[in-house]
Amino acid sequence: MTTPEKLYEGKAKIVYKTDDPEILLTFYKDDATAFNAQKRGTIVGKGQINCTISRHLFQLLESQGIPTHLIDTPSPNEMRVRRVTIVPIEVIVRNIAAGSLCKQTGVPLGTLIKPALVEYCYKNDALGDPLLTRDRLFLLNLATPEQLEEIRTLSLQINQVLSEFFNQCGITLVDFKLEFGITSDQQLVLADEISPDTCRLWDQSQTDPNQRVMDKDRFRQDLGNVESAYQRVLERVLSGIQAQS
Ligand code: UDP
Repeated sequence: MTTPEKLYEGKAKIVYKTDDPEILLTFYKDDATAFNAQKRGTIVGKGQINCTISRHLFQLLESQGIPTHLIDTPSPNEMRVRRVTIVPIEVIVRNIAAGSLCKQTGVPLGTLIKPALVEYCYKNDALGDPLLTRDRLFLLNLATPEQLEEIRTLSLQINQVLSEFFNQCGITLVDFKLEFGITSDQQLVLADEISPDTCRLWDQSQTDPNQRVMDKDRFRQDLGNVESAYQRVLERVLSGIQAQS
């Protein structure tokens, strides 16, 4: 077998071509970055953990009628996905105030947000992924009004499914980031990953604000025990999936 051709290397994943032009192979790395790649490090085992968590969450969403780019996972840190054109919008869904929302608006950390807030950022590292207004999004032709409506509806459905699932795992889904792609037959599907790198997850059995953090904030804020927190998320997700079947 020939070495697969690298199409793109991002901060957390490498994307390879396959023999089928409609299928790509993504390799999940242990590399971690934060603050627009100003902070760099390694989270040992992260690639396998995030790939496995993403696979199970994508399968859960598929079972609830949400289309995703997942095909299968040939190894613990490799995912075969449908080739899509990524919509250059990062969709952030928030159930509890944290991170940039608190920084930019002064809303206190931990404030319950109901109904959930859906925000759009421009997926552009050079510009630091700025928050978009609806009009700016259309000015930049990032999506059509119909696509944006579909993205919003899907994002809220995803939030419903994931919040309920994580709750059953004893984890609060605080907020998360989604990316969508368009297939060659023009279908809008959920792409990228859903993992402790892209979600804020709080352990419901912990009350201490630092102890409860099970996601990339442990790395961002140097809280320690990053690997074990990711591992605990994986274990809870696997038990949650098992309990459902
Ligand atoms: N997020 C992400 N990638 C980004 C920016 C944010 O996965 O480039 C996730 C982040 O992990 C969190 C949510 O989106 O779960 C909301 O992030 P926020 O806007 O609060 O930004 P941050 O505080 O992480 O800079």
